[in-house]
Amino acid sequence: MIYEIPALCAAAGAFAACGTYTWGSVVPSAQLFGPTIRRTGDASTIALTFDDGPNPAITPPLLDLLDRHRVKATFFLIGAWVREAPSLVNDIAARGHALGNHTHTHPSLALRSGRRITDELDRCDDAIELATAQRPRWMRPPFGFRSPLLDGIVRRRGGAGVAMWSAWARDWKPQPAEPVIERLRRARGGDIVLLHDGDHRVMNSDRSHTIAALEYWLPRWKDSGIRFVTLNEVQE
Ligand SMILES: [Zn+2]
Repeated sequence: MIYEIPALCAAAGAFAACGTYTWGSVVPSAQLFGPTIRRTGDASTIALTFDDGPNPAITPPLLDLLDRHRVKATFFLIGAWVREAPSLVNDIAARGHALGNHTHTHPSLALRSGRRITDELDRCDDAIELATAQRPRWMRPPFGFRSPLLDGIVRRRGGAGVAMWSAWARDWKPQPAEPVIERLRRARGGDIVLLHDGDHRVMNSDRSHTIAALEYWLPRWKDSGIRFVTLNEVQE
């Protein structure tokens, strides 16, 4: 069953509820549908997170770049892509990065039934476990869209929770590196930073702007004393 926002609004009996629903669904800081993590809790650390991979065109050079700077990150993987490139996912885990669940096919979860949400999370977890013998602790909803059902489902499944972000680079489309570098200038200690090594629509997408922006920022962040943590190291 797919819920429609107008039906929910009619049930709520007030147009204002539509606005509240939308806000609770899409704003990273919103806690209306249950608590989420969106900062590391330590102003001396940054958690880099990469969504929509694995991406055979970009993830390998990204892993090499992170290794060169001894940076560990968290990868929110799409289950369908994991099944296409399991050895790459195994490599991400073997290099000490954390793996997160970004659903199997990247639908918006805001309007989906509990059964569909559970199925999306299960199939992604299964793909990651098949590739790495690990099960992810954190999940991130596609597009950041949440629903009243999602938090309860995530908690019942025993995961750590829903991971959002406090800084982003709007790097989900091919573009020059410079605007991505400029957006990352706002990142501060304590931030969970949303980045993309993949594309939910196709594999082998171009995310070279993201790599170039990190080549610029990683040495500067390290020189300023920032330490990098995975979400598996962050207090829940
Ligand atoms: Zn995504």
